[in-house]
Amino acid sequence: MEDKLIEKLVSIAGEDWVIVDLEKIEGYLYDETPKPASPEAIEDVVVVKPEDSEEISAVMKLANEEGVNVIPRGAGTGLCGAAIPTKPAIILSLERLNDIKDLDEDNLMVTCEAGVTLENLFEKVDETDHLFFPPHPGDEGAQVGGLVVENAGGARAVKYGVMRNYVKGMEVVLPTGEQVSLGGKILKNNTGYDLMHLLMGSEGTLGIITEVTLRLYPEANETATLLVPFEDRHSAMSAVPRVLIEGHIPLALEYVEKELIEESARHLGKSWPADEGEAFLILIITGKDEEEIFDKSETMVGVLQENGALEPLFAQRRKEQESILDIRSNVYTALEEETTDILDVTVPPAEVGTLIDKIEELAEEYDTRIPVYGHAADGNVHPHIMNVDGEAPGYFEELKEEIYQIALDMGGVITGEHGVGETRLKNLPAALSEEERKLMRGIKKIFDPNDVLNLGKAVM
Ligand SMILES: Cc1cc2nc3c(=O)[nH]c(=O)nc-3n(C[C@H](O)[C@H](O)[C@H](O)COP(=O)(O)OP(=O)(O)OC[C@H]3O[C@@H](n4cnc5c(N)ncnc54)[C@H](O)[C@@H]3O)c2cc1C
Repeated sequence: MEDKLIEKLVSIAGEDWVIVDLEKIEGYLYDETPKPASPEAIEDVVVVKPEDSEEISAVMKLANEEGVNVIPRGAGTGLCGAAIPTKPAIILSLERLNDIKDLDEDNLMVTCEAGVTLENLFEKVDETDHLFFPPHPGDEGAQVGGLVVENAGGARAVKYGVMRNYVKGMEVVLPTGEQVSLGGKILKNNTGYDLMHLLMGSEGTLGIITEVTLRLYPEANETATLLVPFEDRHSAMSAVPRVLIEGHIPLALEYVEKELIEESARHLGKSWPADEGEAFLILIITGKDEEEIFDKSETMVGVLQENGALEPLFAQRRKEQESILDIRSNVYTALEEETTDILDVTVPPAEVGTLIDKIEELAEEYDTRIPVYGHAADGNVHPHIMNVDGEAPGYFEELKEEIYQIALDMGGVITGEHGVGETRLKNLPAALSEEERKLMRGIKKIFDPNDVLNLGKAVM
């Protein structure tokens, strides 16, 4: 980066907030994309940490004058390389915008700056004792801005939907430096095109989100966890729609198989509490009191057993529930070291069993192992492509394309929650028509006429 540019950044944000020292920049170069699949970061970058939207606006105006790429940076927990610099860039970190400005209990809304972490948001909302923020994508270190532009999902989407369902207002600095205020504390808004929803899922390519207003919900007081074993995958999967039709939508409805969940338990030094079954559904049930929880659980167990479930395990004590959920959450970490890439293909929910069968056939064909688990009721699963001898296998791209094609042929999509970023960019032509991609390129050009915001990500 040229000294002149760095001086101008210093004049905007102050010397303490412009980082050029390579050692200090290191932590801003990568996200959580598994290393073998991650794009190689370049070091020709400068990190700037603005204090507010005025400074962000000034940085964007400077970037337009100088023709420099700017990459908005949240917490770097993304899984598709969307925040990794692969061209010379100003990395614009949102970390100093970390204020929760307003918790409005009457309107059930919270307004916070984009750099607030999910963990801090949960803590703040918890203080009310009766409200909660439903979405729970797996890493609580993620920032609200990152969660919004990745339209993150997670296990609770089955009952409450993804981030998109919660964002009611946002403040945005456009790529050209102008600022816009979209939506607000309102639940209905039909005034023109919905620009706010366009920003959601835009992966930092259409604007920099500085503040977000999110919808809250009344908290359920009680939870219980049902661990339900089945003889096989298809019995488990065919029970899922039956549970949903019954009307007691669980907070989460996760799917795991025996070999994998036992591997995760071993990884944590624990043991998986179910003695029988090859495939498992994990249901989190919520209710206002114990009675409601028991009623709902009874109904669900009835439905599940009519549909092939073996003896379910009912966990109500906090410790027992946490232990089951901890083992499920750590499937990812148990596999992480040997993973080339984690995919998040999504198909119509009733097709998940068939999708996993087909992935298993591919694994045999490639003489490898492709562990699969995920959010059963959303049709969203995570196949892991595994390393060979500690490295990405030579067939990695080909196998990834084949898995994507299977999902697409089943009426699905190549990514349900992690986004396109850079790692899935080359797969876009298989997933979207030329007409769709042309519209997306056109939208990008309108927002960012001088091509300065997060180039080479999400759109092609
Ligand atoms: C262990 C683990 C579990 C996970 N589980 C889930 C899960 O269950 N569901 C799920 O959906 N995801 C999951 N993720 C992925 C990740 O947490 C999400 O993609 C999250 O939304 C990224 O937020 P971030 O703040 O870390 O963004 P970053 O990784 O920093 O950036 C992601 C993208 O957002 C852009 N960006 C960041 N902040 C802003 C802003 N304020 N304005 C404009 N653009 C911005 C960046 O430029 C980049 O394009 C998981 C990740 C990990 C490591």
